[in-house]
Amino acid sequence: MDICDLAPSYIRAIAPYQPGKPIPELAREMGLDESGIIKLASNENPLGASPLAQRAVRGVLDGISRYPDGNGFELKRALGARFGVEHQNIVLGNGSNDVLELAARAFLTPQHSAVYSQHAFAVYPLAVQAIGAAAIEVPARAFAHDLDAMRRAVRSDTRVLFIANPNNPTGTYAPPAAVEAFLAALPGHVAVVLDEAYHEYLPLELRGDSIGWLQRFPNLIVTRTFSKVYGLAGLRMGYALAGAGIADLMNRVRQPFNVNSLSLAAAAAALEDLEFVRRSFEVNQAGLKTVTRGLSELGLQYIVPFGNFVTFAVPDASGVFQRLLKLGVIVRPVASYGMPDHLRVTIGTESENARFLDSLARALGA
Ligand SMILES: *Cc1c(COP(=O)(O)O)cnc(C)c1O
Repeated sequence: MDICDLAPSYIRAIAPYQPGKPIPELAREMGLDESGIIKLASNENPLGASPLAQRAVRGVLDGISRYPDGNGFELKRALGARFGVEHQNIVLGNGSNDVLELAARAFLTPQHSAVYSQHAFAVYPLAVQAIGAAAIEVPARAFAHDLDAMRRAVRSDTRVLFIANPNNPTGTYAPPAAVEAFLAALPGHVAVVLDEAYHEYLPLELRGDSIGWLQRFPNLIVTRTFSKVYGLAGLRMGYALAGAGIADLMNRVRQPFNVNSLSLAAAAAALEDLEFVRRSFEVNQAGLKTVTRGLSELGLQYIVPFGNFVTFAVPDASGVFQRLLKLGVIVRPVASYGMPDHLRVTIGTESENARFLDSLARALGA
């Protein structure tokens, strides 16, 4: 007998998450020099991490023999001051992936269902499937969440609904008024996870007051991350903001020490580095213009981007992906998201964007 056959069928059916290819792996596979490779595959911050965050990490290195503060007091104080919420409204996670899972675990069982959009972030199906709950994937409209259809897809057994705004890997965005109307129309038995991993990349005038909505919608969970604009993807730190009752449930199902002392210190410092965030935003805005213009000049269609990446249609996407790898440029195939004719490229520095466009032109010509 194979013990693995005894694992629940919904666990055995999980398709593993496909991460962006790491630079050392490509270097090994192609015999390339690591320093000549650029990775635009995981929506990381091309400016690196905030210098304040790096200094904070060095400052706490001497303490790593101690367990971290399992309540994350200092970081919660910083987040609370920034967003006008109490500690009891905050759940810290080992990346926001962790808090997405905590939300699923707090509300779902194999007798319940969860709703998310086609082409939505891959962690939603993974989190739902790991519990054995039913997944309801709602067809997208022009690659964007179809909020009306998502509302209609809610059943009496639905307990969680995921919205990514902006969404990854499509880069699409739902205007705040639409999300607000959606929340107002949704029945109260569904917890809405509003995943705002790219919130800080939105121009101010496009940002909704999602944290303010927590007062009006007791079933709302807002999630954010330090992996993107704050440049701390390698440290893993994300958080959820929610009503005290929901936050308490999520905190009960998390590991007592799910976030480590280095990331706690780094995140608190990064939150205060407004100058780094501002520069990251501006480099991204300029890069979005450069890359979308370059794609148009190559005759390629792209989905209008609202994050720090652009998803574009290209003939022979997997062949182009491979040819880009040979040129030392790592982008992200999105076939596993049901988009086999698209590739996703993260906005890099000015020189990385230029290198990408130049390499893409060569990859298309080949
Ligand atoms: C990158 C991303 C996250 C953040 O993941 P972390 O676990 O915080 O690194 C969450 N949601 C979406 C849609 C993302 O693209």
